[in-house]
Amino acid sequence: MTTEKIAAINPWQVAQHQFDLAAERLQLDDGMRRVLREPRREFTVHFPVKMDDGSVRVFTGYRVQHNLGRGPAKGGIRYHQDVSLDEVKALAMWMTWKCAVVGIPFGGGKGGVIVDPKQLSKKELEALSRRYFTEIEVLVGPEKDIPAPDVNTNAQVMSWFMDTFSMHQGYTVPGVVTGKPISLGGSEGRNEATARGTVYCIIEAARHLGLELPKAKVSIQGFGNAGAIAAQLMAEEKATIVAVSDSTGGIHNPNGLEVNKVIAWKQEHGTVQGFPGADDITNAEVLEVQCDILIPAALEGQLTERNAGNVKARLVAEAANGPTTPEADEIFWKKGIFMIPDILCNAGGVTVSYFEWVQDLNRDHWTEAEVNAKLKAIMVKAFQETLAIARRDQTYMRTAAYLLAVQRVADATMMRGLYP
Ligand code: NAD
Repeated sequence: MTTEKIAAINPWQVAQHQFDLAAERLQLDDGMRRVLREPRREFTVHFPVKMDDGSVRVFTGYRVQHNLGRGPAKGGIRYHQDVSLDEVKALAMWMTWKCAVVGIPFGGGKGGVIVDPKQLSKKELEALSRRYFTEIEVLVGPEKDIPAPDVNTNAQVMSWFMDTFSMHQGYTVPGVVTGKPISLGGSEGRNEATARGTVYCIIEAARHLGLELPKAKVSIQGFGNAGAIAAQLMAEEKATIVAVSDSTGGIHNPNGLEVNKVIAWKQEHGTVQGFPGADDITNAEVLEVQCDILIPAALEGQLTERNAGNVKARLVAEAANGPTTPEADEIFWKKGIFMIPDILCNAGGVTVSYFEWVQDLNRDHWTEAEVNAKLKAIMVKAFQETLAIARRDQTYMRTAAYLLAVQRVADATMMRGLYP
């Protein structure tokens, strides 16, 4: 597929295109390409939920398992009005590569429900969560497929999933989902893990680029689990957060925003906009403000051929999955912008999910210091391995991460052989 043709395409086509580039460079044989290019399983469910007014609504959800070669499927569940099967397929494929980049023994999966959860009461959200999980139960289990939080799902939703599964089994099964609260077998540090992994990568990249974090200005799109915690952790590194945004829009202050006050403001007002001492800007402007480090931490397809040329940052760290299209990647490469690709940059979340699963299976509980130390070791190793390939092959970091990941998955697939 040419880059011209992928101008207005969906995440699944982007994901397959990224895979094709890696497969070509690795000279994978045609059979292996055909196997790894498609998801192993795609499951669609339509399920009823009784609403508070007594009416019944039918929702549509998905669970996709892209690859199970290196272990059980692993990947979050997203609640969003724009969820589609193609989006979930892309996210599942990215999970396969992500688990391989950081070397944890999982394959890739992802799930989603087409719903705007902000329109539901807590009771309706619980009913939807329990029924959706019941519908996908034929696929999930601690040895088969282990979901986790993603956009608009959290520790509460994971608790309902875990309880629903456990009720059906007749005993408590903490290892069926990760991202649970500590009281239910969750791991210390899981809530911050995605952002912490992103910041470990940024520290490594900054060292490589000779960028001093205490002098760096940072702009962040998305102010949820990944974005808001990344803002806090970057502030701890003494960087200046100049702009942030959520789904309602952004705010900007070139002299710096006080992150904890912005978090409190959002909690009180439901939006970052209107924050005292900052200018309201659009979500598009957040990506283009004067800064050294840009952290997209919202949704896919945000950095495209239309706006990539306007990005001022030297370093783009993809806390979100799939925020950059292949055309934007090429623009960044030509402009000399250093990119930490999603499958590496946000792998901290799944890495600590892996720790949580190991602790659950062993009925163990590690300290936060242990979790963070193990996370750091894995992230730094994965970053350095990716950087070494990028330097060796004179290519950009996304391609390097794909070369590392796809080769690992292809090796595992080759050694297992073709059944029957
Ligand atoms: P979240 O629901 O906690 O937060 C999402 C944030 O994005 C919210 O602040 C929301 O207002 C904002 N947002 C939504 N649409 C937007 C838009 N059009 N423009 C700007 N902001 C918008 O979700 P999250 O868990 O932080 O996930 C964010 C991204 O990080 C996703 O791409 C997700 O797949 C990825 N990710 C999350 C994890 C995790 O552990 N939570 C792990 C890996 C990757």
